[in-house]
Order: sequence, then structure tokens, then C-alpha cells
Amino acid sequence: MGETRRVETLVVGGGIGGLSAALALSRQGIPVHVLEKAPEFREIGAGIQLAPNASYALDRLGVLEEVRKGAFFPNRLVLMDALSGGPITALDLGEKFVEKFGYPYFVVHRGDLLDALFDGCRSAEGITLEASKDVVAVDSRPDRAIASCADGSVYEARALVGADGLWSTTRKLLVDDSRPLCTGYVSYRGTIPMEKMTKHAGLDELSDMVIWTGPEMHFVHYPVRRGELCNLVVSFRSKKYTAESDDWGTEEELDAVFSSPCEQVLNGVRLVNRDRRWSLHDRLPADTWSRDRTTLLGDAAHAMYQFVAQGAAQAMEDGLVLADSLAAFGDDVPAALAAYQRNRYPRTSRVQWLARRFGEILHVGGIGADLRTALLSQRATDDYEIADWLYSYRAGLHDAAAQVAGAAGSG
Ligand SMILES: Cc1cc2nc3c(=O)[nH]c(=O)nc-3n(C[C@H](O)[C@H](O)[C@H](O)COP(=O)(O)OP(=O)(O)OC[C@H]3O[C@@H](n4cnc5c(N)ncnc54)[C@H](O)[C@@H]3O)c2cc1C
Repeated sequence: MGETRRVETLVVGGGIGGLSAALALSRQGIPVHVLEKAPEFREIGAGIQLAPNASYALDRLGVLEEVRKGAFFPNRLVLMDALSGGPITALDLGEKFVEKFGYPYFVVHRGDLLDALFDGCRSAEGITLEASKDVVAVDSRPDRAIASCADGSVYEARALVGADGLWSTTRKLLVDDSRPLCTGYVSYRGTIPMEKMTKHAGLDELSDMVIWTGPEMHFVHYPVRRGELCNLVVSFRSKKYTAESDDWGTEEELDAVFSSPCEQVLNGVRLVNRDRRWSLHDRLPADTWSRDRTTLLGDAAHAMYQFVAQGAAQAMEDGLVLADSLAAFGDDVPAALAAYQRNRYPRTSRVQWLARRFGEILHVGGIGADLRTALLSQRATDDYEIADWLYSYRAGLHDAAAQVAGAAGSG
């Protein structure tokens, strides 16, 4: 067994969630140590959408301006029919949207987002970042939490946060479920230089974020890095899916599924990066993320489908509420982690369900698709009611004093 290091707060995983949590904790004056399995703190070469609730979180983390430097601000979110090529509905993202939600909707390269969080962490007080640290076991005791790494090193912490993603090691300690759930969907994604994107590839209008949807498939494109790159994502449900094998969602299937959409989609899908595929998963909401001095955050806590583009936003919100809770409860770490879970669980489980439902709406075929299009095409493009609860949310432990008093009263 290697050396044992004592740290204040330990975050396992240095992705968007882990680094956001580190920044949030540092802004509350709480020292934090981050362990990342990979040799570097990096994100994949694809885009990410950031709704106003994510902007608010980034603003509180002090990195919004940095992130916005590489951003692209689409005029509209547009939903198109991938088979007919016709419009279904759209959401205007102009002045009225910003007035309503306080922040714009924008898209960035994931690398730019992670770099901004990483640089923010490096220049913040009290954050230590360690790469090449694969946490293989976690233990939670009433007086401390313990993480053991593959290289033999051991960390003891006052509080431990599992921000180690979909396949979280920390989760195994806290939640009694096994593998993430999969319904056979797979995505291919990546960015290409904008000049490679012709209007025949689906971008007649370079300033929109576009989703082309069809039966059990969709194709998304939007500009990133100030419009210099175009992000392309294609997703479909594989008929060959089995939990036991990896031989599904292949390129051949991709070409077969997208053999007869409209011309723009056909041309766009040809440009999508095929080097790697992502099988898509979510989990059922579970309300046992926190025990003693250990908790979960981001995909480790509430993995969700990407269909409403909220996974990273929810992870950032988690970090802020977690830091607020630890600051408010002082020495009572278990009460702080319980308050964090109480605050976040209703919202994150609602977003998990929304992502599933929206996936069903996106991927319906036949008469269902006709009905969806008929209904959605009637809505006004500046009707924001449907997104209000999601985008207007302001992450924080807003009733901190009452919660601390309540916990003391019940103790
Ligand atoms: C195709 C697709 C599109 C998406 N689009 C959007 C979008 O537009 N908007 C949005 O908000 N969300 C989107 N999401 C969701 C979003 O990417 C995730 O929800 C988010 O990245 C989760 O962040 P995380 O930090 O919780 O987990 P991760 O990003 O998975 O980070 C976990 C980190 O922990 C590290 N780690 C894992 N195990 C260990 C270990 N044992 N020890 C140490 N370190 C470990 C990993 O290396 C990784 O760095 C999308 C997801 C997909 C698949």
C-alpha cells in the first residue's frame, strides 16, 4: 500500500462536473483536491449546447466570459423533419429569449469549455489537480471518506465527491443499481472546418442550431468556435443491440439507417466523424447519492440522455449547490451532503425523465410523427413556457439558513 494523503474535500473525476465542483468549492473558501484518471484534463473534440441555466452556473463559477470567447450564438433552435426536409418547429433565441431568461443560449467546443474551467481551477485558491490517478475503490465512514488509486496511493478526505461519470466507481458504493441503461441508441460526432460544410450538407442557414428528426434517428448540426467549426452529431437506434456484445451501431448500420432521408441530411451525415461511436445510456433516478461523507455529482449521480442537452448543465448546477451546502453546514458534512441531495434530486430526476420523453417525441415514426408535427408546427416560435422551469433555474442553496436550522432542530 502507498502513501496516505489527508485532504479536505476530494473530487474523483476532472470532467465538466468535477472541475465545476472544484471551482464552486474554492469560491466558498473550501480547499479541494481533484483526482483524474486520464493523463490530462481534456474533453473530446465535439460541441456542447449551453442553455441559460448553464450560463448562470458558469457566471457564478466566474468563467462565463472566458467560455463565451469561443462561443457561437445561434439565432434559433430549429426542428426539421429528416425524411421530408420540411420544418416542424423552432425556438427564437434572440432578444426576447435573452430578456426572458437573463442569458443567451449558446454553443461551444467542449475543449474550450473544459479549458476555461481548468484555467479557472489553476488560478483559483486552494485547488490541487492531479492527473493519472485512477480511483479503484471508495469507502465512506462516519468520520472520513477514503479513495484508493490503482497506483497504490490512498486519500482520506473530510468529504468525497464522486464526479466520475457514467461508469462511476464511487456510485457502486452508494446506489444499488448495476450498469447504466441502454435502449440501443448510438451517436457518432465531431467537428469539421466550417468551409467543408456546404448548403447541400444541410446548412442553408449558417446561424441556426438544427435538429433533423426521423423514426429512431436524428442528426444535429451547429457552428462552434465563433463559427469557425461545425459540430455534427448523428444518432440512431441499432436493431442489432444486445447488452452482451459491442458489435452493434456500426458504420454499415449508420449508412443503412440514413439511406433515404432528405438530401440535406444524406449529405450532412456523410461528413460526420466515424472514428469513434458512443453508445447512449441513462439511469433511473435514485435518491441515495449521499452517505456519511460521500456523495455523487453529474453523470455519476443522474446520467441522462443528451436529447435535451442538459447533462453538463445539471453537473455544473450540482457543483454550486454542493459547495453552498458544505459552506452552510460547516463541520456537519453528512448533513450538508444530505441537504445537497434534497435540493438537487427533484430537479435532476425531472430532467432525466424529460430527456427520455423528448427522445420519444424526436424519434417517433408513422402516424405519431404526423401528429407530433401537426401539434408542434402550431406553436409560436417565441413561446418559451415549455422551457421556463428548466432554463430559468438559478442553482444555489437559496434557503441555507432555514435548512441548517431545520437540520439542527431534527438532530
Ligand atoms: C452525444 C452527447 C451530446 C451531449 N450534449 C450535451 C449538451 O449539448 N449539453 C449538455 O449540457 N450536456 C450534453 N451532454 C451530456 C454531457 O456531456 C455530460 O452530462 C457531462 O459531460 C457529464 O459530466 P461529468 O463531469 O459528470 O462526467 P464526465 O464528463 O464523464 O467526466 C467524468 C470524469 O471522471 C474521470 N473518471 C472516471 N472514472 C474515474 C476514476 N475511477 N478515477 C478518476 N477519474 C475518473 C473521467 O476520465 C472523466 O474525466 C451530451 C452527451 C452526449 C453523449
